[in-house]
Amino acid sequence: MVISPELTRFIAGLPKAELHVHHIGAASPRIVAELAARYEGATAVPADPALVEAFYDFRDFAHFLRVYAQVVDLLRTPEDLWTLIHGVGGDLAAQRVRYAELTITPQPHLTRGFAPEEFCEVIEDARRRVEADYGTILRWCFDIPGVPGPPADQTLSIALDQRPDGLVSLGLGGPEAGVSRSHFAPHFAAARAAGLHCVPHSGEVTDAGYVWQAIRDLGAERIGHGIRSVEDPALLEHLAEHRITLEICPTSNVCTRAVPSLAEHPLPALVEAGVPITVNSDDPPMFGTDLNREYAVAAELLSLGEKGVADLARAAVEASFLGAEGKSALLAEIDAYVAQNSSAPPG
Ligand SMILES: [Zn+2]
Repeated sequence: MVISPELTRFIAGLPKAELHVHHIGAASPRIVAELAARYEGATAVPADPALVEAFYDFRDFAHFLRVYAQVVDLLRTPEDLWTLIHGVGGDLAAQRVRYAELTITPQPHLTRGFAPEEFCEVIEDARRRVEADYGTILRWCFDIPGVPGPPADQTLSIALDQRPDGLVSLGLGGPEAGVSRSHFAPHFAAARAAGLHCVPHSGEVTDAGYVWQAIRDLGAERIGHGIRSVEDPALLEHLAEHRITLEICPTSNVCTRAVPSLAEHPLPALVEAGVPITVNSDDPPMFGTDLNREYAVAAELLSLGEKGVADLARAAVEASFLGAEGKSALLAEIDAYVAQNSSAPPG
């Protein structure tokens, strides 16, 4: 990373919106250690933040999935889930994230015995407390864990039957390869009919054909990752023309081997093609990153200065599902910050 200390500071203070971050994947070592301490002797997860950091040390995708499952296993009571969401909200606020759409996968919690009403009550209470304590607005993307059948049906049911106030969208994560996006067309049709937005993951490790499926069969308004779109000029044109935003998470793509290195990330080619993009962090502590670092990576890849990174923050606000009033307020906050903190001489 060769961006200047001034630009690093500018990014750290810049009011931002985060549109692609997972609730489990955002659990910091501090939060996980706090949860593990509640179950000492009944979990393999260490109760010391430094040891959790080593436990997170990412080896391969299979290791990542094991770590993820062990963190899910620490969320045994409503208080545990509340602690996680409130802690994640605090961590986002500390990075000057003013608005976040947190992708939350209800299914593993339902499997562990949470009742749908209880699950929604807890996350809603934590969401309100985050806003009261830190001023950061949270919204939910309920995420289908990539498996057709009951897991997908349960996710749709909890979304539509409970319809918590903070819910804005339906997502689709989990394994992509060999799982046609089209399996989930009925779920996304029902979500759209109920007024929810549609933001499936697609084209992260799978080819551009999966992105077309997400657009045509699921009505995707934004795409999680979508980086393989770069292989299909007609798709790039479609994304640009219809203003379908790709939620780009550069470090995550390297960690999952979706791209070989940051230097080879297709972000510059996507921007060059006129595709709307936002910069996001995905599973930040598990990938050794945070949103500020991802902005620095993007600044490096796209040769951006202060104006460019402020435009990234504005693009995330524009692509968000925040209402018109909320968008104007956050854009004004960004403008005020730029006016006060820009190191460039006026004029
Ligand atoms: Zn993701």
